[in-house]
Amino acid sequence: MKVLVADDDPGSLLVARAAVERAGHECLAAADGDEAWKLFLAHRPDAVVTDRMMPGMDGLALCRAIRASETDLYTYIVLLTSQDSREDMLAGLEAGADDYVTKPLDPFVLRARLLVAVRVTTLHADLAHYRKVLSRQARTDPLTGLYNRLKLSEDLEQLHARSARYGEEYSVAMCDVDNFKSYNDIYGHQAGDLALRNVAAALLGQVRKSDGVYRFGGEEFLLVLPRQGIAEARVLLERALEAVRKLKIEHHGDPSGELRLSAGISMFGAGHAVDADMLLGEADTALYSAKAAGRNRVEAAW
Ligand code: GH3
Ligand code: MG
Ligand code: MG
Repeated sequence: MKVLVADDDPGSLLVARAAVERAGHECLAAADGDEAWKLFLAHRPDAVVTDRMMPGMDGLALCRAIRASETDLYTYIVLLTSQDSREDMLAGLEAGADDYVTKPLDPFVLRARLLVAVRVTTLHADLAHYRKVLSRQARTDPLTGLYNRLKLSEDLEQLHARSARYGEEYSVAMCDVDNFKSYNDIYGHQAGDLALRNVAAALLGQVRKSDGVYRFGGEEFLLVLPRQGIAEARVLLERALEAVRKLKIEHHGDPSGELRLSAGISMFGAGHAVDADMLLGEADTALYSAKAAGRNRVEAAW
């Protein structure tokens, strides 16, 4: 662990520092509260051992400042209090300290308390890690590895707000595999899954880094194209359909003998400031037109 020790009494600071280092931790030392706060911000230690009474920022103010600045990682705080002040101890725990040790400091006691600090900070680090993993998992489609609808709704809300504020355009494209039900019927569900994976990879290969590709539903994919109007979207989608055709996935249930895609596009921009849901609806209607016109094509909403 990285441990920050703050005490304006040089003797006490020395004892604390020695105890921290003997326990095998890296030690940062501060001679008052203000210096401690600066070191905290610069180094983000795992644990802080701080005196209650210090010139400048005192131990309680330091506890509060640390708690207010925490984001994902937890800082374990041990407050050093004088033996005869039970009120100080209580105020310290209320201000955010996890534990207290009375002065004069017994290095053995501090070493023992740091064992608990390791356990608690490890637990918090694990929690932060799993929160991140779960958050990513909740936004990913397990079959294709693409983003899912939850992520789509978050991204689209952000993009829509930004585009509306700055007067920028963006497009959305709804893509759907042609005659996919019969693909499953002919080649089996597992082959169907593999085909969806390959289509997803082909779509990803055609977009820019700032574009988004999402699995919208079963064999439907949604593309979100920031700062691109309908003409650019059409060019990109034509290319995407060609990329899927180039996969040359055999499909006897399609008149062409190969797996193909249809797409419907719509655009947000000047003169067409509809909300994001409406845009998706328009793209879906355009997709329906593409299917009705014979599939394997891109249609625009207007
Ligand atoms: P159209 O050209 O009009 O789009 O016809 P379609 O047969 O593709 O349309 P339909 O919506 O009737 O069929 C979609 C099929 O996609 C039905 C369903 O079994 C299949 N499907 C949906 N999700 C998955 C999946 O995760 N894996 C597999 N293998 N098939 C899926
Ligand atoms: Mg389909
Ligand atoms: Mg479909």
